[in-house]
Amino acid sequence: MSATAEHTFDIVILGGGSGGYACALRAAELGLSVALVEKGKLGGTCLHMGCIPTKALLHAAEVADTAREGSQFGVKTTFESVDMSGVNAYKDGVVGRLYKGLQGLVKSKNIEYVEGEGRLVAKNVIEVAGRRLTGRNIVLATGSYAKSLPGLDIGGRVMTSEQALFLDFVPSRVVVLGGGVIGVEFASVFKSFGSEVTIIEALPRLVAAEDEAISKQLERSFRKRKINFRTGVKFSGVKQTGDVVSVSLESGDTIEADLLLVAVGRGPVTAGLGYEEAGVTVDRGFVLANERCQTNVEGVYAVGDIVPGLQLAHRGFAQGIFVAEHVAGLNPPVIDEMGIPRVTYCEPEIASIGYTEAQAKEKFGEIETYDYNLGGNGKSQILQTTGFVKLVRQKDGPVVGVHMIGARMGEQVGEAQLIYNWEALPSDVAQLIHAHPTQNEALGEAHLALAGKPLHAHG
Ligand SMILES: Cc1cc2nc3c(=O)[nH]c(=O)nc-3n(C[C@H](O)[C@H](O)[C@H](O)COP(=O)(O)OP(=O)(O)OC[C@H]3O[C@@H](n4cnc5c(N)ncnc54)[C@H](O)[C@@H]3O)c2cc1C
Repeated sequence: MSATAEHTFDIVILGGGSGGYACALRAAELGLSVALVEKGKLGGTCLHMGCIPTKALLHAAEVADTAREGSQFGVKTTFESVDMSGVNAYKDGVVGRLYKGLQGLVKSKNIEYVEGEGRLVAKNVIEVAGRRLTGRNIVLATGSYAKSLPGLDIGGRVMTSEQALFLDFVPSRVVVLGGGVIGVEFASVFKSFGSEVTIIEALPRLVAAEDEAISKQLERSFRKRKINFRTGVKFSGVKQTGDVVSVSLESGDTIEADLLLVAVGRGPVTAGLGYEEAGVTVDRGFVLANERCQTNVEGVYAVGDIVPGLQLAHRGFAQGIFVAEHVAGLNPPVIDEMGIPRVTYCEPEIASIGYTEAQAKEKFGEIETYDYNLGGNGKSQILQTTGFVKLVRQKDGPVVGVHMIGARMGEQVGEAQLIYNWEALPSDVAQLIHAHPTQNEALGEAHLALAGKPLHAHG
């Protein structure tokens, strides 16, 4: 291929993660000519280092708990041990099959897949190993990386999720730095695998982005599971001696462990990629984009984790699809960021959409809330899980927030997102019939109660 562009694509995409590949697939489907540039593995963080491998670990963790807890259901089981080589083979098998499928999917479409590290060298050109890919439109989708704290070097027994996904042993004691989504998911896995776990969180509560009631319930459940956590405490340093890490806190305490997992958030991958030189506005590393995913430079779009907002795979998918449709002239409706469902897959699971109670008060003034306790839900009793469904509605108006916690409650987010995104009134949902006995019924019962006709609701 010559260094001069012999061809102009409709869209050139930099980064083949959730945002980038979704854009490529939709654009190809719409008959646009597309080039997709990826320096690592197609599928990006979500498939290889994020959603999929972590959820496989969480499932293995659930199996371990089930083995431990059989007697609770009258089944005589004993938990022997966790064999990390077996766990990793299972996890890698899942990832491998999905990876193969995705590669096949991209290959089957009219997408020019270009392997290599790309750079934006002009507002309409991505350069990869000397090859210039010119696009009428450019999509930046370079994703994110695991951050650390100043002075906290990753290495040895101090790791981020990127290394922790490939552990070949179960550490006896783990300190998890950060009580956000990734931190509590790993804490949950390690505990189920048999580690003694302590979470350190500088904010006053775990999963601080969630409704306060959810944090309280998670903390209650973690206490019951004997997952230790310290909130409102700052990390001050770590020392590694052989295989032991000593984690010190600003409070003066020191905690010894076999592993420190750093889960303090993810930063955008944008440095050195030519974005600013091409005139794209970047703020603290993030690419600023409007509700149509347009940057300040005409024809340059940004999707996924590099754009400030929820760092979730399905947000990236939605933004990628949006850009393809926008470029194709379909005038797609803009994405409501509050309408993006959020699930945290620890045990117990958390699922939410829309506004927390505090956010709703600030936004709408008068609101009403209702908590439906899973104690009244048959299926949750069968599963022996506790938790609740909390609804937030505008006074006499639609439901603007749904917050759920309990084993397997992540699966309920599908209906919750329809309720929020279709601006349903509690009475709209109350007249829909929810199958018995399901956990989904809890969502129905919460709406029955909020519509003024509670069924299995106490208090
Ligand atoms: C441990 C963990 C668990 C997670 N769990 C979930 C979950 O359960 N659900 C959920 O929705 N989200 C989850 N996420 C978040 C999710 O993975 C991200 O939101 C999603 O991957 C973002 O997609 P993206 O396309 O923006 O970026 P990425 O997936 O990071 O993809 C960016 C791609 O760009 C490539 N790239 C970067 N620079 C260049 C370059 N110069 N040239 C060529 N290619 C380049 C990278 O190699 C990468 O493949 C999790 C993340 C982590 C870390």
